[in-house]
Amino acid sequence: MPTLRFHAVKESLTRKPVVVEESQKRSEIFGENVFNENAMRQYLTRDAFLGVMSAVQDGTKIKRTIADQVAASMKDWALSKGVTHYTHWFQPLTGATAEKHDAFFETVSEGMAIEKFDGGQLVQQEPDASSFPSGGIRNTFEARGYTAWDPTSPAFIYGTTLCIPTIFVAYTGEALDYKTPLLRALHAVDDAATDVCRYFDKNVKKVSSSLGWEQEYFLIDKMLAASRPDLTLTGRTLLGHSSAKGQQLDDHYFGAIPNRAFNFMRDLETECMLLGIPVKTRHNEVAPNQFELAPIYEEANLAVDHNALLMDVMGRVASRHNFKVLLHEKPFAGMNGSGKHNNWSLSTDTGVNLLAPGKTPMSNLQFLTFFINTIKAVHTYEELLRASIASAGNDHRLGANEAPPAIISVFIGEQLTKVLNELEGVTKGKLSPQEKTELKLNVVGKIPDVLLDNTDRNRTSPFAFTGNKFEFRAVGSTANCSNPMTILNTIVAKQLIDFKVEVDKLIDGKGLKKDEAVFNVLREYIKSCKPILFEGNGYDEAWQKEAKKRGLSNNKTTPEALKVKISKQVIKLFEEMNVMSEIETRARYEIEVEAYIMHIQIEGRVLGDIARNHIVPTAVKYQNILIENVKGLKEIFDKDFERVSKEQINLIEQISSHIESINTNVTKMIDARKKANGLDDIEKKATAYCNNVKPLFDDIRYHCDKLELLVDDEIWPLTKYREMLFTR
Ligand code: ADP
Ligand code: MG
Repeated sequence: MPTLRFHAVKESLTRKPVVVEESQKRSEIFGENVFNENAMRQYLTRDAFLGVMSAVQDGTKIKRTIADQVAASMKDWALSKGVTHYTHWFQPLTGATAEKHDAFFETVSEGMAIEKFDGGQLVQQEPDASSFPSGGIRNTFEARGYTAWDPTSPAFIYGTTLCIPTIFVAYTGEALDYKTPLLRALHAVDDAATDVCRYFDKNVKKVSSSLGWEQEYFLIDKMLAASRPDLTLTGRTLLGHSSAKGQQLDDHYFGAIPNRAFNFMRDLETECMLLGIPVKTRHNEVAPNQFELAPIYEEANLAVDHNALLMDVMGRVASRHNFKVLLHEKPFAGMNGSGKHNNWSLSTDTGVNLLAPGKTPMSNLQFLTFFINTIKAVHTYEELLRASIASAGNDHRLGANEAPPAIISVFIGEQLTKVLNELEGVTKGKLSPQEKTELKLNVVGKIPDVLLDNTDRNRTSPFAFTGNKFEFRAVGSTANCSNPMTILNTIVAKQLIDFKVEVDKLIDGKGLKKDEAVFNVLREYIKSCKPILFEGNGYDEAWQKEAKKRGLSNNKTTPEALKVKISKQVIKLFEEMNVMSEIETRARYEIEVEAYIMHIQIEGRVLGDIARNHIVPTAVKYQNILIENVKGLKEIFDKDFERVSKEQINLIEQISSHIESINTNVTKMIDARKKANGLDDIEKKATAYCNNVKPLFDDIRYHCDKLELLVDDEIWPLTKYREMLFTR
């Protein structure tokens, strides 16, 4: 394998902690390290500025001469801030961000050097990309891929490097990253939604998708985390008995933020401000040492980049504060897991949030159109939406401790349920003037004020309407938001296209008025997508049965959930929407299945090691101490020996029995792994890992955790839950 030339330059951020006066306003430092509109106005010529803006707003191509000017200005701006290197920053399918740093520095003749950066270097690079996952699109001998500038996400300075957000594609044109399909999906939803908006307002020229993510995470003392091989290698604890006190008192949620964590947050927020990430809220989450950070929402592509960047910044800032950030969906068994709610909406270039009820009946009809079409899209593609958030880590979270189940459903609240019920009763075909007035005044016209007190939020729903946006809550905390955002925007785009066809048919074919036609189609949608609406408790077991009756999928594991991604319907959908070709869809599927296999494989190895090399030897050691003790007792208490040594002997026996169970199960697990590894078909392999290897984790863990309760605390080799969770 060729060497991997991409590596994060770790020290760049950590070397230069930012000094910002406590008293300095956040707004004053916001975006200081971003080549944003402000910086562009200052550094670019008028032509170059307009060129970039029209690329951002209308997606026009940037000419080479303009690119040269932009590059030169970017370089000057960056040099003025002490930057020495630049990189094309992208999001390969590993889930991490990638960068390869090059110096601006170039020699021109002997002994002479200049700082150089031209349009060519800005627009396109050819990284040696053979070690990134491609799902078979590129074989290693055809390693070439290239990165291309994405002007819709502004360049930024990270440490001493100028980072240029780029897409990453193979030479043959297939996407090798998260961003490319996302941009295509955003384009699709823009076109489809703009067309539909024009029923209501001819001035609308563009619709953008917005995303506001909420990032949950745990903060653990760095040294304590480092003492756990499972946390270090897999991001979660594979064993560990629950702490006597956990989250049952709910005393952490929204409680006072502990000092050390607070200092970390301040520092993190300052870094975010400089990078233009508009973080706004921070609070304690439910589990001890669990927190949440949320920004003000942004255009989806930018928000996705900002979240990917944030996850990286968090790790570095945490390190400065001797913390380790755990982004895993379920770092601790029996505790709440971490998610990343994706708040999503659509808005027009005329400033209208399409998922916010308006002031007039017409704008409310527009709201209802987008609201109902979204629900319909989620209903049609519920299984695909579930697949968009599938990962080994998220499997532990879904359906456990305050997390939505693996069944996708939509919560809309009591008031909107009523509105939909009324709309369902609308007469088919042409409406009488009376009916029209009635509808406008009493159904559509009533929405704004009822929504204001629609506050009963159902926290158990994976996809909930929250007043002016939908909140997709099933997304996992480690996820790159691109995956769910690509899929959500694609299915909504497809739905809106279908909607427009049906409405036009009624207008042109049946001579219905526009609003009559819209009402008619919406009414049919309400009828057909009812099974996806669920207002009850998603954690309830009865819901699983009910959902089955309604024909909703309930794919509990990643291998099951992913399958739909290569179904005929989905392949066709992505092709039709120009989001992914069949090759790209299949490649991604392969990458995700392989990632799953590798995760479980690594967890299995680590758990086997810990159980055999840490737990069993410690248990034996303690057992020997007990044996010595029993021998001593025998010497002292000749007659009474049996009575005084009873408990110790019992303990010795219990320890033996746990050791035996651990060893048998580890052997079983290794055998199951070997069998799984022998399978060539990756789908079968993933299923074998899921159904035959993973279940043994629980058995092994059970006995290790029992031993934790028996063995002398002083010699226990692993940092315990209470130490990790309650050290502040
Ligand atoms: P919560 O109770 O879930 O914390 P908030 O009102 O605080 O609700 O919003 C949560 C997130 O939703 C924030 O990140 C916010 O920026 C985002 N949000 C608000 N409006 C929109 C919108 N129109 N599109 C996308 N995200 C939005
Ligand atoms: Mg939320």
